[in-house]
Amino acid sequence: MFDALYLEKEAPDGQTATIRSLPESALPEDEVIVRVHWSGLNYKDALVITGRGPVVKTWPMVPGIDFAGVVERSSSPDFHFGQKVMLTGWGVGEKHWGGLAQKACVPGAWLQPLPQDLTCQQAMALGTAGFTAMLCVQALVREGVGPNNGPVLVTGATGGVGSIALMLLAGMGYEVVAVTGRLEEQPYLQRLGASEVLARSHFEMPSRPLEKARWAGAVDVVGGQVLASVCASMKPQGVVAACGLAGGMNFPATVAPFILRGVTLVGIDSVLCPRTVRQEAWNRLAVRVDKTLLASMTRVIPLSEAIAASEDLLNGRIKGRLVVEIP
Ligand code: NDP
Repeated sequence: MFDALYLEKEAPDGQTATIRSLPESALPEDEVIVRVHWSGLNYKDALVITGRGPVVKTWPMVPGIDFAGVVERSSSPDFHFGQKVMLTGWGVGEKHWGGLAQKACVPGAWLQPLPQDLTCQQAMALGTAGFTAMLCVQALVREGVGPNNGPVLVTGATGGVGSIALMLLAGMGYEVVAVTGRLEEQPYLQRLGASEVLARSHFEMPSRPLEKARWAGAVDVVGGQVLASVCASMKPQGVVAACGLAGGMNFPATVAPFILRGVTLVGIDSVLCPRTVRQEAWNRLAVRVDKTLLASMTRVIPLSEAIAASEDLLNGRIKGRLVVEIP
């Protein structure tokens, strides 16, 4: 038997979330059974657990879009008993049972060995959020934004992706300006390396096609009007890495920044990111991340608190990362 957070669809518009003890035979049949020890609680997990977003494709569902643990049984030649492994994305916790459980069973192709310099807990303190933040940072670097090009902006800065992107960019020598709806968190954002903190409200008003050119690069987790305003205020040849929709799915922008300032908008998808790109991003994360700062922005919760914490996360009451310990 194993404990799992278990979601059932009751009616077209209702779902239940409970902690259940399930037999191992209930697991989806696949190549590798992992004894999960840590899982991140991400924005998408919160949407799934609260039912506030139409993310789940099959029911019942065990949520958890990422996890780290130890291989318990494997028919994959790539993984062996006792090996420490991790997983992010691939539709786990959406279409396939996920990591908010003591056990998960997945194809070997979705797993990766735990990076050498990280513990399972650190890997999930980073989790999907940290991986996505690194993909955003790599996109800026790849597109030619260096620390000397000018300030870079990070929106949704107190959240998981935002906090880690801010920390990584500041650690790489960039001047980072944080955008937040929670100005009272200025000391937290400065501790992570923000040189300036701006109110999100400045970016929520409809922008002109081109605003004053200020940012060499940007990491946006918010979408909607905020992303449109960010694009309008990029410097010539500026680069925006867009990964989120915390503020909305729409994009009320004009083409002006792209055709008059040569701005590049790079889309970031962590879910189906190819294995080689994943490996490189995780190797960099393992080396680059300041583990003391990471620990300071991470709160550990038990599985039993994941439901309440999901409400808090969507209601803007969490900063940094939540990581679920699964003994
Ligand atoms: P968090 O909840 O940890 O952070 C989101 C942050 O966005 C909040 O802390 C808040 O920051 C800001 N925010 C929240 N609600 C709103 C709102 N209504 N309007 C504007 N800003 C808001 O989430 P994550 O960091 O885990 O994820 C952030 C986004 O990135 C999500 O949309 C998520 O789905 C997406 N994502 C995408 C991935 C991909 O592969 N493309 C992978 C991982 C995440 P503040 O208070 O500082 O303004």
